[in-house]
Amino acid sequence: MAGIYIHIPFCKKACNYCDFYFITSLKYESDYIKSLTKEIDLRKSEFNDIKIDTIYFGGGTPSILNEKSLYNILNSISKNCVLNNNLEITIECNPDDISILKLKSYKSLNINRLSIGVQSFNDEDLKFMKRVHNGVQAQKSIQLSQDQGFTNISIDLIYGLPTSNIKIWKKNLEIFKKFNLVHLSSYSLTVEKNTLLFNLVKKKNMEKKIEDNVINQFIILLKEMKKYDYENYEISSFCINKMYSKHNCSYWNGEKYIGIGVAAHSFDGIKRRWNKSHIKNYIINLSNNKLIYDFEILDNRDLYNEYILTSLRTSWGCSITKLIKLFPKQYIKHFYHQIEKYQKVNYVIKKNINYCLTDQGKLFSNKVISDLFISKDENLNIVE
Ligand code: SF4
Repeated sequence: MAGIYIHIPFCKKACNYCDFYFITSLKYESDYIKSLTKEIDLRKSEFNDIKIDTIYFGGGTPSILNEKSLYNILNSISKNCVLNNNLEITIECNPDDISILKLKSYKSLNINRLSIGVQSFNDEDLKFMKRVHNGVQAQKSIQLSQDQGFTNISIDLIYGLPTSNIKIWKKNLEIFKKFNLVHLSSYSLTVEKNTLLFNLVKKKNMEKKIEDNVINQFIILLKEMKKYDYENYEISSFCINKMYSKHNCSYWNGEKYIGIGVAAHSFDGIKRRWNKSHIKNYIINLSNNKLIYDFEILDNRDLYNEYILTSLRTSWGCSITKLIKLFPKQYIKHFYHQIEKYQKVNYVIKKNINYCLTDQGKLFSNKVISDLFISKDENLNIVE
């Protein structure tokens, strides 16, 4: 599997919790699309010898783009890459952008998966987050997408909001269920530095409220989704009928992906590279056939940590056979030493050759995973 990620950094308005790279103006749109196609062209040698299984438009707000811009990007990809017949093409959409015309254009471009940024169906939550849409628009956007024949639809919902409570959160999940969607991505509210939310939370002492809501609502999320027969195949991802996000699965499986656009990341199994987060410079450099990026080569320790992080978050878990095959003995000793204590408290269970988080363990996943990590200055001889 190999995927292409296209970053579209335009948004109508800044949501207060967001720390993605975006700008709230469309003035660079046409130059940016030209730059994206130039980047695809400049990097065509990276597409040799691979078949592309997934294309993902993420942002920012890709649904801001018009049909012509999307066509130009997809056209440039198809000219430079070999595409799999079963190609999954996802576009992230904000509810307020979705219209019959837009959905028809997605169909004509063979976009076959929608990821709708609902976040909540509750107006108070949405106002708090400074989202552009309201709850009614969110429901209408899903209905419209289904009416236009889209079946592979995911929505995002955020839990832990200080405006929310158990009743509101359960209602969000009920509305999700009403639409019989095949996929849900549900994330906890995280308060990142350099966001508007960070200052607000400090000023209004909301830390405790958010922390309690995150825990209580995550427990409800797992319970309700189990009741509705959804598979929790990754901590934040739920689906029915094995309708996994192929694109995200390739991240979690450590497969190759190529990120195009400002701030986009790429990974080829050993090297991680990322374009600089500055749209004006990105455009200027590409107009001179230059692409400016940073990179790091992952060493064995990084690859081990990466595998622990991604595999333990999935329901398939962390394979001991794979660890033994890929990493030195000291790493395996360290792994066994750490995992044992979490098996004892039932945060981790062993299923055949794989170690998986239990529902209880998912609540403490960050702690479990960070204990399994090997830090740069770790003295591995202590584990005998
Ligand atoms: S729409 Fe998405 S990318 Fe844009 S500011 Fe809101 S959360 Fe961030």
